[in-house]
Amino acid sequence: MRMILLGAPGAGKGTQCKRIVARYGLQHLSSGDILRSQRAAGTELGKKAGSFMDSGALVPDKIIVEMMISEIEKAPEAGFILDGFPRTVNQAIELDKSLAQCGQDIDIILNLQINDQIVAERMTGRRSCPKCGAVYHIKNLKPKVDGICDNDGTSLIQRPDDSLDVVTNRLKTYHQQTKPVEQCYGNNRAIYNIDANGSADEVSTLIFEQLDVLAKA
Ligand code: AMP
Repeated sequence: MRMILLGAPGAGKGTQCKRIVARYGLQHLSSGDILRSQRAAGTELGKKAGSFMDSGALVPDKIIVEMMISEIEKAPEAGFILDGFPRTVNQAIELDKSLAQCGQDIDIILNLQINDQIVAERMTGRRSCPKCGAVYHIKNLKPKVDGICDNDGTSLIQRPDDSLDVVTNRLKTYHQQTKPVEQCYGNNRAIYNIDANGSADEVSTLIFEQLDVLAKA
């Protein structure tokens, strides 16, 4: 199964992808996660991407397309789920071209739909542990002690791109550059819209309803 999960930043794509991976055995390819690990490793790619990421802007298409195509080429037979890619119409076109060259296509596109206010609350309230990567929320998923990681006692931090200014910018970028991807795919493929305003469990139920049908086919 080759799949794309579309949706605004903060719509819960990462959480849902982990659950989809656990249920259907696909490879999770998150452009954001790959970029963050490149930055942490101090690679040239990571250095080039850093300033765009910190301001809430998109990393240039050429860099992202090359990076993601090379990951897709390494994906196992069972397939993959793309998370955070494509994020522009140009990236979608390049992805299609590259898959077509290997006689492949995307089997399903899910689109997590969520309102901006909920995204802003989710993202600005998010805190993470710089040591183990655990993620918390100041209202919805509190650590046992305020500001401290349950796993290792490290002080929690706010990711620079979760600050209010950057979140506002990321939402603007999403509406201007990523929303048109839905239209682009909608012209010749079915997109399944999923209401992502509910809890993570509610959203998973909606997603599995769609995917179970496809997995059995
Ligand atoms: P994410 O964790 O998916 O929200 O991505 C974090 C940041 O990485 C984004 O705000 C962008 O700066 C960059 N990024 C991730 N995926 C892409 C993409 N497909 N195209 C351009 N920039 C991306």
